[in-house]
Amino acid sequence: MGKRAAPPQQDPESQFGALRASLLFCPKCRQATPAQERLLLVLPTGNLHEYFCAQCGTTTGSRTDNDQNDAPIIVP
Ligand SMILES: [Zn+2]
Repeated sequence: MGKRAAPPQQDPESQFGALRASLLFCPKCRQATPAQERLLLVLPTGNLHEYFCAQCGTTTGSRTDNDQNDAPIIVP
């Protein structure tokens, strides 16, 4: 007797792994939607990119891209 460990289940979403990385939750669509990226602002400290929903255009996120290597990288 004794229980056997359940076999590892195939993750049905694994095939979308690459795609899922660009999915962001859209409050308007109420689901994760493909995110489009656009350059919003160019700042001395880095470029501000904005992500928006590919379906309705609602802003779903943003990030600052620090291209400059002048700033010292502080590693804790
Ligand atoms: Zn949307």
